[in-house]
Amino acid sequence: MERSIIVTGASRGIGRAIALGAATEGYQVCVNYAHNAEAAREVISLIEAAGGTAIAVQADMTKEADILLMFETVDQELAPLGALVNNAGIVDKAAKVSEMSLERLERMFTTNITGPFLCAREAVKRLSTAHGGKGGGIVNISSVTAKLGSPNEYVDYAASKAAIDAMTMGLAKEVAAEGVRVNAVRPGVVYTDIHASGGEPNRVDRVKSMVPMQRGGEAAEIADATLWLLSDKSSYVTGSLIDVSGGR
Ligand code: NAP
Repeated sequence: MERSIIVTGASRGIGRAIALGAATEGYQVCVNYAHNAEAAREVISLIEAAGGTAIAVQADMTKEADILLMFETVDQELAPLGALVNNAGIVDKAAKVSEMSLERLERMFTTNITGPFLCAREAVKRLSTAHGGKGGGIVNISSVTAKLGSPNEYVDYAASKAAIDAMTMGLAKEVAAEGVRVNAVRPGVVYTDIHASGGEPNRVDRVKSMVPMQRGGEAAEIADATLWLLSDKSSYVTGSLIDVSGGR
């Protein structure tokens, strides 16, 4: 049976790797992005060139109307939804809590918490057997910062990921008997553009000596764990937080 998957923030970085991997696993893929249509189109081209099916859908995770339209577009254009990966997320410039503005905190929490909650809500309405669905999987991309706290850099970001961990554990229990498994992957430092957006493009190389394995991670390594959690090979796993962080 054909199923589709929504990967938020799939135009670049970890989301891109998950979208490409999901297509290889046979999913029809919704490649969500916020601004970078060209990067999203490139992901679509790669999937189509390999014989897969994918659509690019612009939707800002801070806007409920965008999220609703994204799910409706998938309902109309792709196979029934089988999975959601809540991947889109942001960091901000390194700062102490004493320096954080209300605007910064609202942007962080709306993007990294409210957006994933709204997407999870819409996915459950489609996946849960209690709502007439056929079951499926949700994977939230969290971060090891949820347990480290990220002092002097971005406690706000770490707190947003701790909220995602709590949502993962709570929602997993809510829908466990309805055919839906909900898990989280917690990456360590991974080579993507996110560090440049936080003002430090070379952050991975600066902090990699703090990683027990002495290296940064690759987006494909996060994608592999995510795809395992969506596969039948993890059929008894729900409410789990899987660290993919080189031992950090
Ligand atoms: P990235 O390279 O900065 O890519 C971010 C992606 O999210 C892009 O596709 C971007 O779309 C999209 N996005 C950003 N804001 C959005 C919004 N408001 N609505 C919809 N899409 C939005 O990030 P990444 O490093 O791959 O991170 C992916 C996830 O992994 C995040 O949740 C991040 O917190 C988590 N993570 C990353 C690391 C790491 O070291 N990289 C470590 C731990 C956790 P556009 O291309 O349109 O801008």
